[in-house]
Formats: sequence, C-alpha cells, structure tokens
Amino acid sequence: MYKCLDCGNTEKFIGHAQEKGIVLIYRNDDFDSDKTQSYSWVYNVSEKSWDFSMTVDKCYFCNSKNILKI
Ligand SMILES: [Zn+2]
Repeated sequence: MYKCLDCGNTEKFIGHAQEKGIVLIYRNDDFDSDKTQSYSWVYNVSEKSWDFSMTVDKCYFCNSKNILKI
C-alpha cells in the first residue's frame, strides 16, 4: 500500500509494471477526455497467474513523487 505525502492520497497512483500473466484487456467506458490524465484502455490481471514487478512513480492526483510505501 502506498501513500502520497503531499495530498494524503492512498487510492490511486501512476507507475509502471513488468508483468507476466494472463490479462483481460478492454476499453474503458469511463474515459473522460476532460481530465488531464485519462486512460482509454485498462486491463485486469488474473492473480493466479500473475508474476510481476511494479514500481509506483507518482501520485495520480497531484503528481507528487513523495510516495511512501506503507
Ligand atoms: Zn498526491
């Protein structure tokens, strides 16, 4: 779990992942073009086959890089 030290966000972050596993890729119908950071595609992973390494880069909401792993 992660926490943004600037805005207190613990819900959503931007990062990158290296993954090996089965994914379900689908269009994000909630895509909102008014937002500065939106993603038109998302994917779900199967936890049973998931082998990953993930790095959190910054807070989704304020772009702060002061992220604490908790
Ligand atoms: Zn933040």
